[in-house]
Amino acid sequence: MAEPVVPPTAGLPLGLADLLPWGGGADDLASALAQWLGVPAVQLECSGTSALMVALRALRAIAPQRDEVIAPAYTCPLVALAVAQCGLKLRLCDLRADALDMDGNVLRSLCSPQTLAVMPTHLCGRVADVAQALACAHAVGAYVIEDAAQALGARLGTLQGGSPLGEPVGWQGDIGFYSLAVGKGLTTFEGGVLLARDERLRQALARAGEQVRPSLFWELRRSVELIAYAALYRPRGLALAYGAPLKKSLSRGDWVEAAGDDFDDLIPQHPLGRWRQRVGARALQRLLAFLQQTAQQAACRCARLAALSGVEVVTEVGGEGANKAHGTWPVILLRLPTAAARDALMAQHWGDGSGLSLPFVHVLPDYGRYDHVLAATRNDKVDCARDWASRLVAVSNSPWLDGARFERLLAQIARAAGQAHTCEMAQSLKE
Ligand SMILES: *Cc1c(COP(=O)(O)O)cnc(C)c1O
Repeated sequence: MAEPVVPPTAGLPLGLADLLPWGGGADDLASALAQWLGVPAVQLECSGTSALMVALRALRAIAPQRDEVIAPAYTCPLVALAVAQCGLKLRLCDLRADALDMDGNVLRSLCSPQTLAVMPTHLCGRVADVAQALACAHAVGAYVIEDAAQALGARLGTLQGGSPLGEPVGWQGDIGFYSLAVGKGLTTFEGGVLLARDERLRQALARAGEQVRPSLFWELRRSVELIAYAALYRPRGLALAYGAPLKKSLSRGDWVEAAGDDFDDLIPQHPLGRWRQRVGARALQRLLAFLQQTAQQAACRCARLAALSGVEVVTEVGGEGANKAHGTWPVILLRLPTAAARDALMAQHWGDGSGLSLPFVHVLPDYGRYDHVLAATRNDKVDCARDWASRLVAVSNSPWLDGARFERLLAQIARAAGQAHTCEMAQSLKE
């Protein structure tokens, strides 16, 4: 029998009991999440992208003369589609060479009286420098929207009993949002969560959220998808739901489809239905234990990966001292020594179902298919971000990637990185 397929990220599995339409305590996901996060209130939307659109509309209502949004050049293409659908212009900020975060100097040069919002992004659960974004944005009267889509459960602060005591990420910026999409941890198949510290901004978000109209079609569709997810998100089911389509995309050489970066322009907006909220609220009761388990697994595996020559494990950028960052670990992100080594590793082992993937295939301008929403980015330099995009690898941190398979993966990564190293040395000897 073939080996089970490991999901690309550590999503929280659902149990049958989560799906029951009755009983089982908590059914108000917004209050349950607010309590879990330790914040006064959160606002639910039907996706992270929809949450971002509500946030942008809320800010636009406050500052109608501002029409630019600044985001990292290496981020989810849905961010570009959301900004365009709100009639705003996206500007792309290059990344630092030494860290997976926006370059502060570039960010400062992009900020202007046109800027509506700056979007520090906690990519793959690694905590970004929100303080820097706040300083740059507030200096020109703009707002910060923290893209914490991949970081529900990440916190700042000192640890006590294995749990950080401090604030959740998403709470330092003016507005923050999380995604409840498949593969991002807690899921309602699709879902989004908005939070804001300032009462006035919370009211602005609520007003912008009122524009969202119910859709029976989308709610039924998402409900069926959530049931299918609960049924198939297990080692055997994933061969069918994830492994087979992945192999098909790879056999056509379509990395964008393989990574799930092929999004449609249309972003549905509708409320998050009652039943799906209840499913999420029940699963939320297991989220902390799951995050602790995956953080522990990541700590051991990061140490092993960091010991490989030529392999760099991507670490936190934001938070320091008493505000130390404790990110989430859907994946472990690696930077390989060369693009050739990364591409060789992916060409050989992406389709194995052993948990390798790419967070995103390209920087936004390099997809081509999103050019129609990137008009304002034409002169934005993104060279460092492009280099990151060419050398990053995500190793799944799903508990279903067992020890033996992780060891095999480790050897494959070591070989790819090592060969690049030898090539480089041979090259430098020749010169
Ligand atoms: C997934 C993601 C989004 C969008 O969230 P959805 O819930 O999928 O709409 C936004 N930003 C980043 C960085 C993401 O990874």
